[in-house]
Amino acid sequence: MIRDILDNVLNGKELGLEEAKTLLDAKRDEVYFLMHAANAVRERFCGNKIDLCSLINAKSGLCSEDCKFCAQSSRYKTGCEVYPLVSVEEMVKAAKKAKRIGAANFCIVISGGGPTESEFKKIKKAIARINKEVGISVDCSLGNLAIGMVKQLKELGIARYNHNLETSKNFYKNICTTHSYENRLNMVRMLKDVGLNPCCGGIIGLGESIEDRADLAFSLKELDVKCVPVNILNARKGTPLGNIEPLPPMEIIKTIAVFRLVLPRSVIKIAGGRESALRDMQAMAFLAGANGMIIGGYLTTKGRSAAEDLRMIRDLGFTT
Ligand code: SF4
Repeated sequence: MIRDILDNVLNGKELGLEEAKTLLDAKRDEVYFLMHAANAVRERFCGNKIDLCSLINAKSGLCSEDCKFCAQSSRYKTGCEVYPLVSVEEMVKAAKKAKRIGAANFCIVISGGGPTESEFKKIKKAIARINKEVGISVDCSLGNLAIGMVKQLKELGIARYNHNLETSKNFYKNICTTHSYENRLNMVRMLKDVGLNPCCGGIIGLGESIEDRADLAFSLKELDVKCVPVNILNARKGTPLGNIEPLPPMEIIKTIAVFRLVLPRSVIKIAGGRESALRDMQAMAFLAGANGMIIGGYLTTKGRSAAEDLRMIRDLGFTT
């Protein structure tokens, strides 16, 4: 069954939702066939180039939302660093560092449901300076924005705007109750209407089912998202998911492969949690269809060094 589905995909047939669920349920000896197909599809549609981005957590903690995986919600005692929006200078400095370590994109991320007017002004100043002084593509992840703000970011030449769906529509109520899935979908639709490229993915390992992972991939396909970050839960003490059992690495590899097959032309970006969740199997993600990653650390955790990541890419025979 799995071999038939993969043969059809390799012969150009689009993967269906039920087929994606079957693939996500592949047994250990079938996973290698799945990886092989995902790798071939990645090579056919995306080539061997790995998309690297780096980020700054420009405002940390103090968020009134209740996303159950997030250390930055003020509802949980997680000990995460808490600070207001950093200075323009610090954002410019971080952009320079992102460029130095080899990232093609630099993303300004802030905690919370959306920026205040004065925070937005400061971020715009930083973007203008980065455009002028650094020469790196700038992305933003600022939560919900009014359409006027989205248009201003587009005018500033923002490359991508990150706004994740997080999980499936069905499972979302278990993850967040302070804003709706529809709200997230609407924001992504608005970005597209304005002509801003959405970077939109999710987080796995929240207790969701295989069906939820397949549904998320198909929601992203429906939105025609070109950049799809796949985060893996790094359970943080103090959050409601603090004691959840981590996903086995092979489950993560299968998910990445299926995302590749559902979204053949998109950047499938391994994002937060890869080091702790995949451990020695990080390179396998790139042989299972991934073609992007975040380097230089995450929002509230440090990743491994960018030099190690770049070496892994070279060792795999890929370029950046
Ligand atoms: S994911 Fe974003 S909106 Fe949700 S609690 Fe964390 S910072 Fe707030």
